[in-house]
Amino acid sequence: MDDCIFCKIASHVIESDYVYEDDRVCAFRDLSPLAPTHVLVIPKHHYETMVDGVASEDLVAMTHAVEEVVKSEGIAETGFRVVTNGGADAGQAVHHLHWHVLGGRRLTDDFA
Ligand code: AMP
Repeated sequence: MDDCIFCKIASHVIESDYVYEDDRVCAFRDLSPLAPTHVLVIPKHHYETMVDGVASEDLVAMTHAVEEVVKSEGIAETGFRVVTNGGADAGQAVHHLHWHVLGGRRLTDDFA
């Protein structure tokens, strides 16, 4: 996807503040953090949302990345939240599947 910002981050065409990477996924800090830890976990393959035929290998890799991130950020024990927005009603702004990983403070009942 030539015009997808997260594809460019995944392929290092645009560099970001990466906190985890393997052959299937990468995780990097959100530009506008809503919590002390606000990391985005994305598959390197372009999917628009969770209902875009995501390969099970990519789901496993994303789950593993969440585990690595919350451990390295020191929030595995204190608590964390994983959120994904799919489509207009959810306010999805970037149309490349991403999981927000939030933590480091008491999270409210809203999105963050
Ligand atoms: P969503 O509304 O779920 O699509 O969220 C998109 C998220 O991507 C927002 O939290 C943005 O702050 C974040 N974001 C957009 N562009 C970048 C970027 N270049 N690097 C890091 N985070 C970004």
